[in-house]
Amino acid sequence: MSDIVLVLNAGSSSVKFALIDLASNTQPLSGLAECLGTAEASISWKVLDALGKEEKQTEALPENGLHNDAIEKLVAIINENNLSDTIKVVGHRVVHGGEQFIESVLIDENVINAIQDNNKLAPLHNPANLQGIVAAYHYFPTLKQVAVFDTAFHQSLPPKAYLYALPYSLYENEGIRRYGFHGTSHSYVATQAKQWLEENKQSSSHLITAHLGNGCSICAIKDGKSVDTSMGFTPLAGICMGTRSGDIDPGLFNFLINELAYTPKSIETLLNKESGLLGISQLSNDCRALEKAKSEGNQQAQLALDIFCYHIAKTIASFTVPLGKLDALIFTGGIGENSAYIRSQVVKLLAIFSLELSEEENLNKRFGEQGCISVSDGAKVLVIPTNEELVIAQDSYRLLCGEQI
Ligand code: ADP
Repeated sequence: MSDIVLVLNAGSSSVKFALIDLASNTQPLSGLAECLGTAEASISWKVLDALGKEEKQTEALPENGLHNDAIEKLVAIINENNLSDTIKVVGHRVVHGGEQFIESVLIDENVINAIQDNNKLAPLHNPANLQGIVAAYHYFPTLKQVAVFDTAFHQSLPPKAYLYALPYSLYENEGIRRYGFHGTSHSYVATQAKQWLEENKQSSSHLITAHLGNGCSICAIKDGKSVDTSMGFTPLAGICMGTRSGDIDPGLFNFLINELAYTPKSIETLLNKESGLLGISQLSNDCRALEKAKSEGNQQAQLALDIFCYHIAKTIASFTVPLGKLDALIFTGGIGENSAYIRSQVVKLLAIFSLELSEEENLNKRFGEQGCISVSDGAKVLVIPTNEELVIAQDSYRLLCGEQI
């Protein structure tokens, strides 16, 4: 077995983990600890055996167990499977790098302090990411650790794209601006798309990537750099998502507070957890469930999916403004990679760009298959499965070896 990177993605109540063998592009161990901080805290994992088979196991964690308990158990699993000596570096997903981080970095005390300074910008995510880093230091004291930021890729946005039309002092003094998220995913699929387009003798400098999962964002990419993106100061902005509203009229806040007795906390819950596909359909946040309900004649499910596709297409169309031209549209994320229905509806709404899908290829390119699904001469439509863990592993290994990112 060759050099392996431990990738940790510590969320507010979960820790996703994977050991990634970069030479063979396999995951000897992967899993998820979830429901942390509750009585149901548990950890599930899969170990790849010599025959390439994986068996899933699940165990309860101590009641109300937190990130440290999850990582303690993870270390025990790593040791039981004799994988400890193979790990060379630990890579962490960190949600918010503010304006300080434009690329992945080796973690030292200054980096930890800077991530902590950004806690107020991502109160649900950065403290959890830090807990993952602290626990990893505790259990792997000799290993170098790397932070890979969701925001870093979007630090190339020009001021006209990242500034809100608010008093400039709010940006200068408080850092209130568009940061954008899902940067690791957008950058990965754009790099993969460029490779495909070049191999097929197509232009590749003007791309739009649509990351459609539970969280959704769109990104305009010119010459490999993010020039605009739909998420903003927080990951709540932009298009409608599973349970998040996306953009709404900011005037609504006063109405909710004054007329409907909402509080800041209940507004946060409303917009983050009760809106989006779930809010409109009153059925589910899950695209698969909504497609099924729609096919059985459920009108609310149809409406939710219509709104979702409309938001996506409208944002894609608007991102041709910073790009000036479109070479390819790339779908990724659980919905983008698997839903032929959403892709075809979005492309229909983009008729002005003369895009046309091959019905057959649209159905073929699902469940991990990647490639082109369009038949038109102009811009290509590609499906590319994202792989954020791989980017974290690659960046971590490069930094360990002293290479530039
Ligand atoms: P996360 O943002 O949590 O990583 P994912 O990228 O896994 O989420 O995406 C989850 C979404 O992908 C869910 O809405 C799910 O319904 C959708 N999805 C997964 N498979 C399919 C499919 N075959 N058809 C339609 N939607 C799918």
